[in-house]
Amino acid sequence: MATFCAGRRAQWSLEGRTALVTGGTKGIGKAIVEELACLGAKVLTCSRTEDGVIACITEWRAKGLEVHGIAVDVTTAEGRQELFSAAEEHFDGALDILVNNVGRSIRKSSTFDFTPEEFETIINTNFSTVLSLTKLFHPLLKAAAAAEGARDKGGSSVVNISSIAGVTAVKTGAAYAASKAAINRLTINWGCEWAKDGIRVNAVAPGATNTPSTESVPRSTELMDRIPMGRWADPHEISGQVAFLCMKGASYITSQVICVDGGWASNGWM
Ligand code: NAP
Repeated sequence: MATFCAGRRAQWSLEGRTALVTGGTKGIGKAIVEELACLGAKVLTCSRTEDGVIACITEWRAKGLEVHGIAVDVTTAEGRQELFSAAEEHFDGALDILVNNVGRSIRKSSTFDFTPEEFETIINTNFSTVLSLTKLFHPLLKAAAAAEGARDKGGSSVVNISSIAGVTAVKTGAAYAASKAAINRLTINWGCEWAKDGIRVNAVAPGATNTPSTESVPRSTELMDRIPMGRWADPHEISGQVAFLCMKGASYITSQVICVDGGWASNGWM
């Protein structure tokens, strides 16, 4: 009985995994770093701000978490290459988990209010960067999936942080919605394309979540009424789903876009 249950319990752990989380010093990314590290993963993260990285690493090390950090801008080819070199250095050429968390929103209700540069920035950050970064890290994810014992870990895992804006129309604007819908589509295709490489690919689509990027968004009654659970999420309510998708317990789940939104995207509106 003890051995049987130990086997089952092992599928709810990330012990011994290596993980890269982009944009892990604030909000949802920070919660994901902490969730994965608390479950046993060795984590590498990044943000554009050196001070922010240093402050978080100091905080995490004091809590006993094994997290490394680097200041890079993932929207640039140089930044992604620096991140790749850091991952190779820390993880010995193999990566079990990649979480594409960095994303950008510029809230405008009319498509005509966006400048071409704003549209370009959103598509570049939320879509093109995820595409380039994931292609760059694919060999490391494939190497981890080919290593001995990879099947016991549920294979390698990519989790893209999408948004319910990519699933249904919300007031974040068309540019953000289009970029997140494109990520959802990449997720579905990559899951099918890379199953042969032992890499599972899923997306988590949060609804309204309390983070620094949404501090200035009004918590209006109209918005609360649309969310069946009647409240915003805290970041750890998103990170739990991300961790689950990376575990052996999710070993048969790929190509899925999972809304973590208090029911918002499922709610009819009249
Ligand atoms: P946030 O509070 O703005 O945090 C973003 C994190 O990413 C910070 O650590 C930031 O640090 C870092 N970052 C931003 N741009 C970067 C870049 N170019 N290179 C490296 N690091 C970068 O964002 P959030 O609200 O947690 O959102 C995280 C993800 O969830 C995004 O993909 C977003 O679209 C998605 N999402 C959020 C919500 C929500 O309600 N909050 C809802 C749905 C989906 P620096 O600024 O120091 O670089």
